Amino acid sequence: MSKKYYPIIGLEIHAELKTTTKMFCNSKNDPDETQPNVNICPVCMAHPGTLPVINKKAVEHVIRVGLALGGEIADFTEFDRKNYFYPDIPKGYQISQYKYPIVAGGNLNGVAITRVHLEEDTASSNHTSSGSLVDFNRAGVPLMELVTEPVIKSAEEAGAFAREFQLLLRTLGVSDADMEKGQMRVEANISISDNPDKFGTKVEVKNLNSFKAAEKAIKYELERMKDLLEEGKGEEIVQETRGWDDNKGSTFSQRSKESAHDYRYFPDPDLPKLKLHQAFDIKNMKENLPELPWQKRDRFKKYGISDEATEIFTQNAMLGEYFENVSSIFKEDLAKIKLASNYITSDIVGHLKNKPDVTMPSVINVAGLINMIAEGKISSRAAKDILEYMHGHDEDPEKIAEEKGLLQKSDEGELKHMIEKIIAENETIVAEYKQGKEASLQYLIGQVMKVSKGSANPQVAKNILLKMIQ
Ligand code: ADP
Ligand code: MG
Repeated sequence: MSKKYYPIIGLEIHAELKTTTKMFCNSKNDPDETQPNVNICPVCMAHPGTLPVINKKAVEHVIRVGLALGGEIADFTEFDRKNYFYPDIPKGYQISQYKYPIVAGGNLNGVAITRVHLEEDTASSNHTSSGSLVDFNRAGVPLMELVTEPVIKSAEEAGAFAREFQLLLRTLGVSDADMEKGQMRVEANISISDNPDKFGTKVEVKNLNSFKAAEKAIKYELERMKDLLEEGKGEEIVQETRGWDDNKGSTFSQRSKESAHDYRYFPDPDLPKLKLHQAFDIKNMKENLPELPWQKRDRFKKYGISDEATEIFTQNAMLGEYFENVSSIFKEDLAKIKLASNYITSDIVGHLKNKPDVTMPSVINVAGLINMIAEGKISSRAAKDILEYMHGHDEDPEKIAEEKGLLQKSDEGELKHMIEKIIAENETIVAEYKQGKEASLQYLIGQVMKVSKGSANPQVAKNILLKMIQ
C-alpha cells in the first residue's frame, strides 16, 4: 500500500525592474537592446576607482510591490556584497541584500511572502562550441527578488502564484515580467515528506522559462522524490540545485547547494544605508497604488458575469476597460451587461486576434448592437456578422443591419398576414399540432422563417402562430 506524501514548495522569483538606467550607474536599462556590450560604463564594468550610486526609482518600485503585497516596509535597509567568482559578475561580487531586505512579510494568493529585496542582475553568458561570450548589457540592471515561505502544496498552486505575481508587476508598471525574455525568472524549492510535521530534503530547480515549465518541473520532481521514498531510498534525495530540460521533460543535477556562508556576505561600504520612511512618503505611496488585480476581480464579479470573463477582463486591462465602458451605458441592466460580456470575450476577442491591426468598434456602437439583440431586432447569427463587419467599419449597427437586410421582422401586422397564409396552406400540419405533435409547430415556424427569408423574429412568429392556431 502506498503511503501519503506531503509536498512542500517555496518559490524564489526574480524580476528585472523597469527603469531608465541601471541599478548603480547611468548606463541604459534596455531589455530590447540586441547589440551586445553597448549599455555599459566603468561602474557596471567594475573598473577600479568607480563608485555605485543607488537608483531611487528601483527602490520605489520594490516598496510599491511590498505595499501591494501587504508586507512591512523596512525602516532601515542596506545593501550587501554577495561574493563569488564567475565571468558574469565583473566585480567578483553581486550587490544584493541579506539581513535587511526592503520588504518583509506579506501575502499573495494565500501564499505567505518571506521577503522582497533588491539586487543587481548579472551579465548574460552565451556558451558556444568555440567558447563563451559574455554580454554586459544586463550587468547591473535592477533585479527584484521575492521569496515565499515553504507553504505551497502543488504545482498548480505554484503556477497560479507566479501568474498572479506577474499580473501584479504589470499592474504596478514595475516590470514587463516577460518570462520568455528572462525578465521574470522562477526558481522552485521542492521537498516531499511522509511525515506532515517534518519537511523533507529540498532541491532547488532553476531555468524555468515559462509557467508551464515551472509546473511540469515541480510535478516531475515530486514524482522523482516520491519514487525514491517508496523504494526506501529517501537518503538519495540530496540537497542540490537541479536544472530543467524542457525538451526531455526532466530535471538533472547541476551542483550541490551552496550555503549563505559560502558567499561571505557583508554590508557594502561604498553605499549609504537607507532610512526608507524618511526618504519616501510611504503612506502617500500606499494611497496611490492602482487598483490591484484581486480588487479588480472582486469588482467585475459584481456584474454577475462568468468567472472566465472576469479573468479575461482582469488580465487584459484594455478589454476590462472596454467592457466597463459598454456596461456603464446599460447602468443596472445585468442581462444586457452579461450579453455584452459574452460578445466581447468571444467575438471581439476573436477578431482582435485575427485582425490585430484593425480598429475595434467604438463602445457606443457595440452597446447599440447589444440593445438590438436584447430587443429582438436581430438574430444572434446576424449579430455575429454585424460585429465582424464593425471590426474595421465602426458604423451604427442599425444602419448596417438595414443595409444588409438583417433586421428581424417583429412587426406583428406584416407577420400576421404571412402566417395566415402559411396556416391556410398547411391545414393537415396544423391539425397534427392540435392533436399534440410538438414538431409540427417547429415546422410551421420554419416555414415563417423561410417565407420571410430569415428576417422574422422566431419568438414573435411563434407567439403569433400559437395565438392564431388556438
Ligand atoms: P536557503 O538558505 O537554502 O536558500 P531558504 O531558507 O532561504 O533556503 O529558503 C529558500 C526557499 O526555499 C524559500 O522559498 C523557502 O520557502 C523554500 N524552502 C525552504 N525549505 C523548504 C523545504 N523543505 N521544501 C521546500 N521548500 C523549502
Ligand atoms: Mg536562498
